[in-house]
Amino acid sequence: MSTKLKKQQPSCHLLSAAMASPPIVSSRPASYSAQQKGDGMIKGSCLCGAVKLEISGTPSSLSYCHCARCRKAAGVFSTVLIGPVADLTITGGQDHIARNEPDAPFVHRRAFCETCGSSLGDLATDGGIYVVAASVLDDDPGIKPMGHIHTASKPDWYEITDGLQQFEGDYIPPD
Ligand SMILES: [Zn+2]
Ligand SMILES: [Zn+2]
Repeated sequence: MSTKLKKQQPSCHLLSAAMASPPIVSSRPASYSAQQKGDGMIKGSCLCGAVKLEISGTPSSLSYCHCARCRKAAGVFSTVLIGPVADLTITGGQDHIARNEPDAPFVHRRAFCETCGSSLGDLATDGGIYVVAASVLDDDPGIKPMGHIHTASKPDWYEITDGLQQFEGDYIPPD
């Protein structure tokens, strides 16, 4: 039978103070707050902070887009949040938003911050929905990704390894 190892006691004041501080219980950065804790709005901002947006209500879907435009603009794929366009408000930096118009068959323009280059998504499409790049979100959108879209455009070197549903083309959630 082995002897129990004695716990080492901290031997200096600094160490005691460090050990007395509360343990880190969440891996989330402090600025990433759950939607429910705030005013019910899902807030987002670009890397430099010039562009700010707010989403009210519950988004319709969150999905991974593998189209060629997302691949080039966002790196491999982008995570897109979709919902009714009336729920989206640009609260800052409207004049910092630059747009790249799509060539057919693409329908979504790419909006990005002209200062820092952050992808913002399409923002407001003509179809009555917003498409926001989830990478700009500072709050939790309250929903999880439902699947992968435009997988037909995905490069072979990128392998999807989760069990989420896959759509070869676009998927717009029903209202
Ligand atoms: Zn920016
Ligand atoms: Zn895309």
